[in-house]
Amino acid sequence: MSESGRLRIAVQKSGRLSDDSIALLKAIGIKLNIRDRLLIAHSTNQPIDLLRVRDDDIPGLVMDGVVDIGFIGENELEEKMLERQAANKPSEFEVLRRLDYGGCRLSIAVPKEASYTGIGSLEKKRVATTYPYLLERYFAEQKVNAKAVMLTGSVEVAPRAGVADAICDLVSTGATLEANGLVEKDVIFRSKAVLIQRADGELSDAKSTLINRLIPRIDGVMQAKE
Ligand code: ATP
Ligand code: ZN
Repeated sequence: MSESGRLRIAVQKSGRLSDDSIALLKAIGIKLNIRDRLLIAHSTNQPIDLLRVRDDDIPGLVMDGVVDIGFIGENELEEKMLERQAANKPSEFEVLRRLDYGGCRLSIAVPKEASYTGIGSLEKKRVATTYPYLLERYFAEQKVNAKAVMLTGSVEVAPRAGVADAICDLVSTGATLEANGLVEKDVIFRSKAVLIQRADGELSDAKSTLINRLIPRIDGVMQAKE
């Protein structure tokens, strides 16, 4: 891969983290010319290129050193880290800042008519989720013998479809759970967006200097909002 010398930043192309991440980059003075269809956006006033991808790809892009920094939800970051550790792939990164957006929780929810007296009620049950590593880790910590069933979408309809007994999914207001006849029971992970950097020591001095200039501006923008 060629090293352009420009700082490469990964951001979710379209989704819950996109607007806030782009707004933050603009607020710290990075001018961007974003065209909707394009994977890459070049800054017009800084040696920075923006890579616009699915959020699922961002942890791997950072850990493989394809990009220098990235904006990602801690839920996705932690899940991908566990997945890569299990596969013996590089899983190193550094958290530069925890950000003030993208807040949500990963929770276990069950159909409202189900009897649930605690995580032990899931013994020998199936739980649909997009985060099998986080969920399996929680089962292991809680010493519950339950099975995580991986679904990349429509997790909330799994119980009604007879695919699983419960779900483990991201929640912010709870409206989606409610609409699907589910009740939130246990929070297993609390998440916010974070800015991460690839393993230190692999960045050029110029890129480190640029990152060190950007971070205090991020702090300034977050403080101004408080
Ligand atoms: P992509 O197409 O990029 O894979 P996605 O459907 O996986 O998109 P989004 O729904 O846009 O992702 O969510 C991205 C991230 O936003 C989540 O991983 C999480 O960190 C955060 N987030 C904040 N609130 C919520 C919420 N209520 N539901 C889901 N994610 C949320
Ligand atoms: Zn995703």
